Amino acid sequence: MVEYNTIILGAGISGISCAIYLKRAGISVLVIENHVPGGQLNKASVIENYPGYSSISGPDLANHMMEQASCYDIPFLYDEVTEIDFENKILKVGSEEYSYQYLVFSTGRRERALGLKGEEKWIGRGISFCATCDGALYKDQDVVVVGGGSSAVSEAIYLSKLCRKVYLIYRKDDLRAEEILKEQLFMIPNVEVIYHAVVSDYMVEDDKICGVCLNDHQQIDASCIFLAVGHLPNSELFDGKKNCGYIVVNSKGETSRKDVYACGDVTYKQVYQLVTASSEGVIVATSIIQNN
Ligand code: NAP
Repeated sequence: MVEYNTIILGAGISGISCAIYLKRAGISVLVIENHVPGGQLNKASVIENYPGYSSISGPDLANHMMEQASCYDIPFLYDEVTEIDFENKILKVGSEEYSYQYLVFSTGRRERALGLKGEEKWIGRGISFCATCDGALYKDQDVVVVGGGSSAVSEAIYLSKLCRKVYLIYRKDDLRAEEILKEQLFMIPNVEVIYHAVVSDYMVEDDKICGVCLNDHQQIDASCIFLAVGHLPNSELFDGKKNCGYIVVNSKGETSRKDVYACGDVTYKQVYQLVTASSEGVIVATSIIQNN
């Protein structure tokens, strides 16, 4: 069995911030990540509200973060945790067991889909959650973005530079995105916002997505449908107090389970931003350092 003082689940900005602070305090730490490091950062086209960078792409910021982590020789394990024994403080990754004194959930959250019939089949084949990742595949074509928050508006702005036409479909009449993003969006001639509209079905032709049907029976032709309709927390492995699936923490980042902490977007909170996720990682690290 491999032993670490602290095991951090998730290599997003909160997990990496936590790991850097712990390692600088001389604490043995392992970060386990089941996808790519950087988490949601990898899906952000442009970040303009992270102090120190007036504008940077999400993947670039993720790379800088990983470079910084490598300066501290923080070990990373790219694999999936399958089981956690909270009583004995052991977790399983495949056939390997790891023991910890403190465990940190910085597992983030994933994108929500619309829940329409047959949707699963088309994810990655005409339904996307990431304009930065997939936008270039639809260069000079018409695309749809669904949602009305800052993610949907950012995606529409990004896609407008690549695609011929971007339809932004929102179910209410006033986009809830940040004002600065809305101002940018309304200046773009090839973006059309369709208000009071709900996607009722995906249109398919020749085994390819070719648009959406709306609740008023209007049909919009599009080569790809980008969904930006909120998130679901990656909290399935946590067996403790949650609210709407998000892990409940106190001001020290402590969960309802002894020696188990959580930070970042997997927690129940008001603000889901890079800056807050990073600071929550630091708060958790500080709590652990004080306990050691
Ligand atoms: P969000 O603010 O929760 O917005 C989700 C959007 O999806 C809402 O407009 C919601 O509609 C809509 N929606 C939810 N379920 C739907 C459904 N079934 N059908 C159609 N529409 C549906 O999520 P977000 O935009 O991902 O933002 C999350 C956080 O990240 C926010 O704090 C945001 O400020 C931040 N963020 C910031 C930036 C930036 O550049 N500064 C970029 C991205 C995200 P209703 O409005 O009707 O509920």
